[in-house]
Amino acid sequence: MEKEIIASIEKKVKNTIKEYKLLNKKDKIVVACSGGKDSTTVLYLLKKFGYDVEALIIDLLIGSWSEKSLAKVEEFCKAQKIKLHTVNMRDSFGCSICYIRSGVQSKVKLNNCAICGVVKRWILNKKAREFGFDKLVTGHNMDDEVENVMMNQFKGNPSLCISLGPKTGVIRDNKFVPRVKPLYFCSNDEIRAYSKIMKFPVVYKPCPCSVVAFRGDVREFVKKLEGKFPDIKKNIIDNFLEILPELKKTFTSKGDLIYCEICKEPSRNKICKMCELMKHLS
Ligand code: SF4
Ligand code: ZN
Repeated sequence: MEKEIIASIEKKVKNTIKEYKLLNKKDKIVVACSGGKDSTTVLYLLKKFGYDVEALIIDLLIGSWSEKSLAKVEEFCKAQKIKLHTVNMRDSFGCSICYIRSGVQSKVKLNNCAICGVVKRWILNKKAREFGFDKLVTGHNMDDEVENVMMNQFKGNPSLCISLGPKTGVIRDNKFVPRVKPLYFCSNDEIRAYSKIMKFPVVYKPCPCSVVAFRGDVREFVKKLEGKFPDIKKNIIDNFLEILPELKKTFTSKGDLIYCEICKEPSRNKICKMCELMKHLS
């Protein structure tokens, strides 16, 4: 059984990389690590498959959870001889993510993960570019993607789906480091099993600040249906990938690329989402 799980995940990841042309051996690759099972698994597999890969972790300074996560990534990278880049929130921004979050939430109604997600994406793109990486790999898995697709459906906002898919990013620009998801067709359960078999040093406990309200409802909904329709997740993803090119055609705005007037990072608007958030702190 263990051998089958290992072979199945490794085959799926190899096929996803090949079919969607996610990576090539000449790419300088960085994996966005969190200390969790997904990013550790993809980092391990890319190293195993012979890619030129390094790791990057943002130390969000979320108390002991961040301390444990950082320690696990350091332990793993040391054992695997993988170069690790650490971005400490306090060194880079002068404060923790929690400080940014409470400052923003005192002015606008945004949930923890919405704020944290914007900050992390901005840092990851900037740092990946500054360190000279060609591709930024994330540990997103099939369950994450199914939830994202369904949440956008339920919100009635299909335009949000254009930044999903195995390759992220609709705007092509040399200030954007393309983001790719080699675990796209691997389920949460499969990755958990793989990570346990391989005895990876990871934190299985979720982030204490995670917001699961709506996502949790969608997760439960899909799980319930999965009892009756075992292929439901794969079907949602396959169907989504069929319509994704059309969604991109419909919702990708044409015209010149914009750089944020404040931070000069690529943005869809005059002021990027990160700088919009930071304005609430001043
Ligand atoms: Fe940030 Fe939410 Fe992830 Fe915690 S769960 S690290 S708050 S995005
Ligand atoms: Zn900006």
